[in-house]
Amino acid sequence: MTSKLETVTQNIQTSAIESGRKGDDITLVAVSKTKPVEDIIPLLDQGHRIFGENKVQEAAGKWPDLRSNYNGVKLHLIGPLQSNKVRQAIHVFDVIETLDRPKLARALSRISQEENISCPCYIQINIGHEDQKAGIAPEQADAFITLCRVSLSLPVIGLMCIPPSGQDPAPYFRQLKEIAERNGLGKLSMGMSSDYQTAVRSGATSVRVGTALFGARF
Ligand SMILES: *Cc1c(COP(=O)(O)O)cnc(C)c1O
Repeated sequence: MTSKLETVTQNIQTSAIESGRKGDDITLVAVSKTKPVEDIIPLLDQGHRIFGENKVQEAAGKWPDLRSNYNGVKLHLIGPLQSNKVRQAIHVFDVIETLDRPKLARALSRISQEENISCPCYIQINIGHEDQKAGIAPEQADAFITLCRVSLSLPVIGLMCIPPSGQDPAPYFRQLKEIAERNGLGKLSMGMSSDYQTAVRSGATSVRVGTALFGARF
C-alpha cells in the first residue's frame, strides 16, 4: 500500500519535473501540529525527518523524546512567536519560519547572541494584505529584510507566506518569489495540503503539509 508520505512525495516530484526542477530540491515539512507522537512515529520510521509545529510549548513537550530516538530531526516553527518565548524557541526549533515584525526580530537577534545559537529564519510576508494574518506587508518587505540581515545580523534564508484562502494562490506565490529574488533570497516556503503542487510549480523550495500526511485535525 502506498503511504500518504509516498503519495505527497511523488506529487512533489511530479510538479517539480513539470517545472523543470528535481523533486529532491524541494523540502517537505511535515506539519505535525496537534498530532500525538503515535501519529508522528510512522513518518519517522519511514525515514522522514523534517517537521513543522506551530506552538513552542507543544513542540517542547512532544519532540525531546522523539529526537532522542531518531537522529537528524529538523523542527520548523511555522506559527506565531511571542517575544517572551524566543529563548525557548531557539532551543526547541532548528528553523523559524515566522519572523514577522521588528520587535520579534530585535528579540531574536539579541537572544541568539546571548545563547550563541544561530537559527536560520524565514520572513513571513502577509502576501494577501489580510488583517487576520501575520506577516510583513509586501511593500514593507524590502526594508524589513534589510533591517533583519544588515542591522540585526539575522540569518535570513528566505520568505514564507500563506495566501488568502478561496483564491487562486499562483499569483501570490509569484509575488513572493519576486520579493525574494530582488532581495537575493534563495528559499521560498509556500504551499500547504491544498496547494503544494501549485506552490512547487511556482518555485517553492519548501512546502508545509499537514492534513495530506496526517489526516484532518480536530
Ligand atoms: C497548519 C499549517 C500548515 C499545514 O496545513 P495543512 O492544510 O494541514 O497542510 C502549513 N502552514 C502553516 C503556517 C500552518 O499553520
